[in-house]
Amino acid sequence: MKVLVINCGSSSLKYQLIDMENENVLAIGLAERIGIEGARVKHEIPGMDKVVIEQPMKDHKDALKIVLDALVDEKHGAIKELKEINAVGHRVVHGGEKFSGSVVIDDEVIKALEECVELAPLHNPPNLIGIRAIAELMPGVPMVGVFDTAFHQTMPSSSYIYPLPYELYEKYGIRKYGFHGTSHRYVSARTADILGKDMNELKIITCHLGNGASLAAIENGKSIDTSMGFTPLEGLAMGTRCGDIDPAIVTFIMEKENLDIAGINNLMNKKSGVFGISGVSSDFRDIEQAAEDGNERAQLALEKFDIRVKKYIAAYAAVMGGVDAIVFTAGLGENSASNREKICEGLEFMGVKIDKEKNNVRGKEVVVSTDDSRVKVLVVPTNEELMIAKDTVGLV
Ligand code: AMP
Repeated sequence: MKVLVINCGSSSLKYQLIDMENENVLAIGLAERIGIEGARVKHEIPGMDKVVIEQPMKDHKDALKIVLDALVDEKHGAIKELKEINAVGHRVVHGGEKFSGSVVIDDEVIKALEECVELAPLHNPPNLIGIRAIAELMPGVPMVGVFDTAFHQTMPSSSYIYPLPYELYEKYGIRKYGFHGTSHRYVSARTADILGKDMNELKIITCHLGNGASLAAIENGKSIDTSMGFTPLEGLAMGTRCGDIDPAIVTFIMEKENLDIAGINNLMNKKSGVFGISGVSSDFRDIEQAAEDGNERAQLALEKFDIRVKKYIAAYAAVMGGVDAIVFTAGLGENSASNREKICEGLEFMGVKIDKEKNNVRGKEVVVSTDDSRVKVLVVPTNEELMIAKDTVGLV
């Protein structure tokens, strides 16, 4: 069975064609600058040179047409005809309280997704555009929606409720939803496999540390708390997002800096985080380099990032009454040994002991704690696309 996985962003579209017989990736690519000048599709068949197709695309449907043509192209295609694609899996950011698992997409699901737009105004509209475009271009091919929020729907109400007037939860659905759910689910399941344990006997803290970053506390295979909230702005200090701050700062800055709602949203989402503190970059590689070169604000940004991850780890261990494994994933978590080491430093009291040599690794599935470390520490590269494809196969 061949599954096409689609992830539509506001001006981009990532895709993978996966043969689920052997989980081999047949094609992988990215359409970018959709709707703006310089639109292109970067298309790759593993083992062959990447091709770049530069062609105007006014919307995601145009982009998908180019992608589908590329997939069946004589020279750089992966399949002979589109009929070989048995199903399409869509990443959908927000499923609200309606979806606690992946679903086959039909008209009712589309209607429910439209109702979730209010909760994710930047993310759900492009997801919906992708769904409609595939329905038009590949009529009759079953589609599945896999939600970033779904995995966290198992959180108890004491985790997801905010200490605000309860009516606001009832009226507007203001509660913690959590994000990166597909990634937290994938790496926690891999962790159980790697450790040779049943999910139902493990307490795992997953650290998805990328440009966007979040932690999850996973007990018996279920998310019971996570650091992102009503939106992906809560929690850790991120590339450009502030994460947790005193809420009174919001109105204070608005008044002092004469900012409107769009202005303060932009400041907290795009100008804060490690970028805001360091003034250097939102990319951790640049910040780590600047810190090494003696830039004190870059050093401070990294310290702030690490200490917050450490605090969440300790908090989640307390919530679960212990922890068996801490897992690092995503761009920074998979690649930065120094960052993992700094985060785990000082957690020895909890039974966490990093092996510096084993930890000197990038992008591989490895246990990086010492053999006698009570808590296992792992690096597990995330693979949201494979998870989406697996759910798609399971449902169709
Ligand atoms: P993601 O959002 O998962 O793609 O992660 C992107 C983040 O991972 C960026 O801030 C990158 O700088 C960071 N990253 C990727 N590779 C490395 C590396 N070798 N060392 C430090 N950070 C890295």
